[in-house]
Amino acid sequence: MDYKKYIKSIMDFPTKGINFRDITSLLEEGPVYHSAIDELAEFAKSKQAEIIVGPEARGFVIGGPLAYSLSIGFVPVRKPGKLPREIATVSYEKEYGVDTLCMHKDSIKPGQRVLVTDDLLATGGTIEATINLVKQLGGVIAGVAFLIELTDLDGARLLKEYDVLSLIKY
Ligand code: AMP
Repeated sequence: MDYKKYIKSIMDFPTKGINFRDITSLLEEGPVYHSAIDELAEFAKSKQAEIIVGPEARGFVIGGPLAYSLSIGFVPVRKPGKLPREIATVSYEKEYGVDTLCMHKDSIKPGQRVLVTDDLLATGGTIEATINLVKQLGGVIAGVAFLIELTDLDGARLLKEYDVLSLIKY
């Protein structure tokens, strides 16, 4: 399916110079959203994924339905102060300053095959931090899946050792 035509591009949002790729217009189209999840689910299945991990907030709208469709679990990756149980954390450099992501320490079993997903791959900082968290907990990266990849930012260079699927590339 030509998913690209369901993505809206908004120049200079949220700041000047950013071409924001808006997935909400794809999510609004039920059959298109369904088909995108189905494709990602096929990929996850082919990699024998046993659990899905996705960072907030847009990783949830991909990861949640993906996990549901495969009848496997979903683990949220969140900003500090949101998860109530014991957490593992990782900090990473953003364009301006440092960001921290957290996961429940007992959410992944050692050796478990994890499909990591987010809506969009840009510089790769978010997904790299998420992968590092999964590894900290002993998970094995079965694959990495995105709706969108911004190829000019070359986040894929950080994912060379993994199987990666992006449904849309810019
Ligand atoms: P990065 O860590 O640089 O790979 O950025 C990935 C995260 O930032 C994703 O969760 C996206 O939701 C968001 N993001 C980064 N760049 C864009 C963009 N041009 N359009 C929409 N979302 C973006």
